[in-house]
Amino acid sequence: AKIGGRAQTRFFDQSMTRDLVRRREIEDELRLAIQRDELSIFFQPIVDLETGKIRTFEALVRWFHPVKGELRPDEFIPVAEESGVIVTLGNWITAQAARVCAQWPEDVTVAVNLSPLQIRAPGAALGIRNALREAKLDPHRLELEVTESLFIEDNHATAAFIEELAAEGVRFALDDFGTGYSSLGYINNFPFKKIKVDRSFVSGPNVGKKSEAIIRAVAEMGTQLGMEIVAEGLETIDQVQAVREAGCTLGQGYHFSRAVPDYLAAMLLAEEREG
Ligand code: C2E
Ligand code: CA
Ligand code: CA
Ligand code: CA
Repeated sequence: AKIGGRAQTRFFDQSMTRDLVRRREIEDELRLAIQRDELSIFFQPIVDLETGKIRTFEALVRWFHPVKGELRPDEFIPVAEESGVIVTLGNWITAQAARVCAQWPEDVTVAVNLSPLQIRAPGAALGIRNALREAKLDPHRLELEVTESLFIEDNHATAAFIEELAAEGVRFALDDFGTGYSSLGYINNFPFKKIKVDRSFVSGPNVGKKSEAIIRAVAEMGTQLGMEIVAEGLETIDQVQAVREAGCTLGQGYHFSRAVPDYLAAMLLAEEREG
């Protein structure tokens, strides 16, 4: 047992070191990635479940690394957060997304994910305003997606950020609802226009009568409060029908489309409008 234990420890140490090395590499290279043009923004449609029309595109960052290949945001966003690079990265993403959205028909909006660290950084609101101004984009066409983790800390800067930008017309969506510290207090205290129900309520092992009832209750509350409910992770027509029946007005997922490059997003819109 003793020998086995030691072997296990060594194995653990090695994989931990490998993780650390990879993280450090990612951190260093992330700083250069923007300049080297390795990052790009993909756009995933959010569809009106009544009409089937695209209402919004969510901006999702992609990193095409020359050696490591395509890196998923789940791998490098946490590194960007720990190292503080997220502030520069986040401002770049917002600026790019705003620029692309400005090319679309005026009734189509863009949604950008914001990390809590980015919001708490000094000058966070300025970064958003600069992006809007440079792209000449109406603030109403920008949606900022934030998660419940933002509210774990009761932070004055966070509240000010949301209230100021919302007053200027920027819309806020509560992302991944139901996965974290879901509290109705956030919904009561902040001017959210949308709630995005996490995809774990739509597909996977925990989906059933219970999760359906939860979606229904959230949708009912949302309707009462004048908010829209987005169902994430819709992969099948059955899932689309179920969330529609439960009262969700918007849907997103592979059933409609994966995230696509900007030229394909523009094509999807053009096709839709030609009829
Ligand atoms: P999220 O905000 O919940 O974004 C939705 C994720 O679900 C995306 O993964 C999307 O590609 C994926 N997805 C969409 N439809 C389906 C579906 O039908 N089935 C399945 N299985 N997955 C689906 P992605 O692009 O890998 O992003 C992962 C997470 O990384 C995002 O989760 C978000 O939290 C974060 N992220 C992505 N882009 C950014 C960004 O620009 N800034 C920040 N701060 N975070 C970002
Ligand atoms: Ca999101
Ligand atoms: Ca989400
Ligand atoms: Ca997520």
